[in-house]
Amino acid sequence: MGEFDLIDRYFKRPARHAALGVGDDCALLQPKAGTQMAISSDMLVSGRHFFADVDPRTLGHKALAVNLSDLAACGAQPLAFTLALSLPHVDEPWLAAFAEGLFALADVHGCELIGGDTTAGPLNICITVFGEVPVVAGSSQALLRSGARPGDDIYVSGTLGDARLALDALLGKIELPPELLATSRARLETPTPRIALGLALRGIASAAIDVSDGLLGDLGHILENSGVGATVHADIATELIAAYSGNKRATGQFCIQLSTEQWRALALAGGDDYELLFTAPPTLRDTVAQAGRASQTPVTRIGQINTEPGLHLMDRQGKPLDNTCASFDHFA
Ligand code: ADP
Ligand code: MG
Repeated sequence: MGEFDLIDRYFKRPARHAALGVGDDCALLQPKAGTQMAISSDMLVSGRHFFADVDPRTLGHKALAVNLSDLAACGAQPLAFTLALSLPHVDEPWLAAFAEGLFALADVHGCELIGGDTTAGPLNICITVFGEVPVVAGSSQALLRSGARPGDDIYVSGTLGDARLALDALLGKIELPPELLATSRARLETPTPRIALGLALRGIASAAIDVSDGLLGDLGHILENSGVGATVHADIATELIAAYSGNKRATGQFCIQLSTEQWRALALAGGDDYELLFTAPPTLRDTVAQAGRASQTPVTRIGQINTEPGLHLMDRQGKPLDNTCASFDHFA
């Protein structure tokens, strides 16, 4: 099967919203009056970001999900995406499953594939997403990393650490009972981009980022961009690990033996969570809770922004903790 047959069979769909979709030299998107376009790319490399033998359906989902997560963090409405694909060989069942996972998630968010590139080479998937953000009275409604102010609350959506737990299990570093491996693995392989929450937080959150490299590392980006510091309640974050809460509830049933420090490190530096980490003034606590309910996304307050730079951790009793959980860095 040639390159063009492959594109026609697996990736060409009629354009719905785009002015022009797959098939010409460029796709054409027509920005609506009073909007800005939010654009982001993420590349997934075999052996680096996923196992070469991962289920292609989940890979299609994840490749788009990590990109949509960036739109969510900006409060952008997804519109379209491009797909640059490098494939070692044409494996039709693999391509069919990959496309199925990809389009299933794309359809949930009304985000259409408008173009890309296809080449032979090591398995590598690069997606660029395009989203829309309103401009109101000359001011962009995009959520940025730079807007956190002293006194703001810090929140995170959903759960933390379970994806990393699954990764460690798949790498043979720890052993998980089959049930727990399955639920954690779903978090690693099919993360949920928090689009609805991102949209609901426009005009409410002062700053936002998605958690891809680990909570503390990504919070560090907000702090640096906003010129502020923060205090984070490590034990509240740890309670957000589904496997941890489940483990505590079902003591005896699960048998993961991790130290308090290891659980904390999972929550604070695990990575691959694709949750939204955001800040908002304390006067908006009810509004934030309402945005969480409206978007059917759990939201937990985990700390506070400080005037002085620096990231401090606190335990349940309010005692300071060492900040030794380095965030995952691809080049470290
Ligand atoms: P060009 O050589 O002009 O860059 P290509 O021959 O690479 O164009 O691609 C032909 C058309 O197919 C273009 O519209 C391109 O956007 C689209 N396309 C190529 N690969 C993909 C892909 N993986 N997914 C979706 N569209 C693709
Ligand atoms: Mg090309």
